[in-house]
Amino acid sequence: MASLRDAGLDEVLYLPGSDTYYARISSHWSASAQLHPWAIVQPRNTHEVAKAVKALVEAQDVKFAVRSGGHMHWAGAAGIVNGVTIDLGLMNTTTYDAETKVVSLQPGGYWGASYKELEKYGRMVAGGREGQVGIAGLLLGGGISYYTCRVGFACDQVINYEVVVADGRIVNANKDENPDLFRALKGGGNNFGIVTRFDMITFAARDIRNSTITCSKETGVQVAQALVDFTENLNSHPDDHLLAIWWHVPKTKEYNIILDLMNLDGDLAPKTHEKMNAIPATRHECTASVSRKLELFVDFSGKQDTWFTLAFKADVRIVLKAIEVFEALIEEMKTHIPDANFSHQLVFQPLPACFRARSLEHGRNMFGLEHVEEDCIHFVWAVEVETVKLNETVVHPLLKKAVVEVEAYTRSIDAGSDFRYLNYCDPTQNPLGAYGVENMWYMKDRWNIITGMEAITFDKSSPPI
Ligand SMILES: Cc1cc2nc3c(=O)[nH]c(=O)nc-3n(C[C@H](O)[C@H](O)[C@H](O)COP(=O)(O)OP(=O)(O)OC[C@H]3O[C@@H](n4cnc5c(N)ncnc54)[C@H](O)[C@@H]3O)c2cc1C
Repeated sequence: MASLRDAGLDEVLYLPGSDTYYARISSHWSASAQLHPWAIVQPRNTHEVAKAVKALVEAQDVKFAVRSGGHMHWAGAAGIVNGVTIDLGLMNTTTYDAETKVVSLQPGGYWGASYKELEKYGRMVAGGREGQVGIAGLLLGGGISYYTCRVGFACDQVINYEVVVADGRIVNANKDENPDLFRALKGGGNNFGIVTRFDMITFAARDIRNSTITCSKETGVQVAQALVDFTENLNSHPDDHLLAIWWHVPKTKEYNIILDLMNLDGDLAPKTHEKMNAIPATRHECTASVSRKLELFVDFSGKQDTWFTLAFKADVRIVLKAIEVFEALIEEMKTHIPDANFSHQLVFQPLPACFRARSLEHGRNMFGLEHVEEDCIHFVWAVEVETVKLNETVVHPLLKKAVVEVEAYTRSIDAGSDFRYLNYCDPTQNPLGAYGVENMWYMKDRWNIITGMEAITFDKSSPPI
């Protein structure tokens, strides 16, 4: 740690034994991600980030991780054991410029707090849908927001990144300055540097109409059909939003279906909600600002989590297949997990064709979705248990097998999709590999330039390793 001290970072360096060290570790959303590094350094500004990077790169053989909101669900995404964690939690401001209508977000802030600040000015930005999701991780992986059908992935709304690159330089990346880095950051994750500021487009804030619909599992077929129908409608009704969740909770030992159905303009009864509203269910309706909605939804795990994701064409047969596998998985897990003490969610989200059109309008992100013309749906499939042992020996292998089974089905009816949303992936999945060979090479080339690797001519017909 001498190099960090020599760099003048002693005041923000936390070692095992200090309260801040443990508090920061336990603030990672999932216990799976709560790793104990040699030290945590918490820069207060961009110059301190640059100093930390220089010091750690120069001290040979020291590995480091980068953490912002700490919401990634797996061990090693934003933390490390044999190394140092650069924790951006103190860099968390939201600054709105009324003249340009641009908001500048520091990486370590939370979306809930940023929305609250922006609403003071009657403005809003595309970002996370849970209050304590971090700014940086969500934007670097893409960012699915309430507004994705209107404005694209949240990263498509970033107009400038301030970045500390591997040699400690501070650079800007936008359409005129470092434009290749600008694009690579739109889905490229933490591979290109540490982002210390995101400048983003804002739009007028409006209250959202929200129905939380709880249905019994017997309505599954009706919900599946309504979900596919809703997905197709989003292209012409981008003001709607939906999360459809199959949810088994330990308390009830059974499962329900929960639909989080929204209209972004506060419309009380949009025609597009009719099929969802015809499903027998209990309904809780409210109209609220986005920040208020997020205050009501903070979902800390603190347990062992496994997530997998999959995308496929919007086809009711696949939704029904996934539900069949979900039900079988619950029964199998009950035989392994005492008192059925696990939470198990299968969350379907529309991925309509209009998502891609928005990306093109904003200069293309890295996902390679431009060529996909069909409406798709993707899911994040998540299980939460108490112990590492259960997670490793039961949950991870079973969930992986279940996802492979659903994927094989999608391919068998020619309705598969390669897209794997980075922020929902298990580490054994390969989200960057799903961006397509051309985009993978684009990122690899930027990476070579940024890390000072010599330009080498490769055969680019197959993916880089
Ligand atoms: C309850 C919950 C709700 C969610 N809701 C949504 C949602 O609505 N939409 C959505 O798209 N996703 C959602 N996610 C997924 C979320 O986008 C990811 O977990 C995301 O990584 C969180 O960002 P973070 O800054 O909190 O993560 P961290 O765990 O801090 O970081 C995630 C990754 O980003 C890297 N990183 C962090 N900061 C920087 C930086 N400044 N520069 C370079 N790399 C950096 C880290 O190294 C790590 O690899 C949700 C997750 C949870 C647990």
